[in-house]
Amino acid sequence: VSAGRGVGKKENVENVRKLAEALGGELGASRPVVDSEWVEHSHQVGTTGQTVAPKLYVACGISGAIQHLAGMKKSDFILAVNTDKDAPIAEVADVLVVADVNQFVPALAEKISSK
Ligand SMILES: Cc1cc2nc3c(=O)[nH]c(=O)nc-3n(C[C@H](O)[C@H](O)[C@H](O)COP(=O)(O)OP(=O)(O)OC[C@H]3O[C@@H](n4cnc5c(N)ncnc54)[C@H](O)[C@@H]3O)c2cc1C
Repeated sequence: VSAGRGVGKKENVENVRKLAEALGGELGASRPVVDSEWVEHSHQVGTTGQTVAPKLYVACGISGAIQHLAGMKKSDFILAVNTDKDAPIAEVADVLVVADVNQFVPALAEKISSK
């Protein structure tokens, strides 16, 4: 469950971390999030980070640049949350939720945690 620049600020990464925990997954991040020191580099997904292929990859506010896709496009199922329905991530996503990541992600995490 990865945070992109679209989360807006460091504090909002916690929403993404909580969703990762609710799903029993790991926190990932795009390079700008790592460069901003919101998340450690060991969690970066992409050509200059980790390559992952989980059953479910959740891209939270990530545009889908080629360098990011290289690290996660082999995931079984890709759920993307983005305010831009035309973001490049839509080309690889199985489901694109067009929503504000800072509203949708906490709501989803809460729903899953309450099950
Ligand atoms: C040599 C090289 C190596 C690189 N290696 C990597 C790498 O390993 N990993 C990596 O990730 N990148 C890498 N990059 C950088 C890459 O090119 C992109 O710049 C980067 O992936 C963009 O990160 P992002 O999607 O988080 O940010 P952006 O491209 O800025 O996208 C942010 C997205 O968030 C959306 N958004 C904005 N606000 C909200 C909101 N409130 N709710 C929902 N969505 C919102 C926007 O519509 C946008 O699609 C590399 C680049 C180079 C040149």
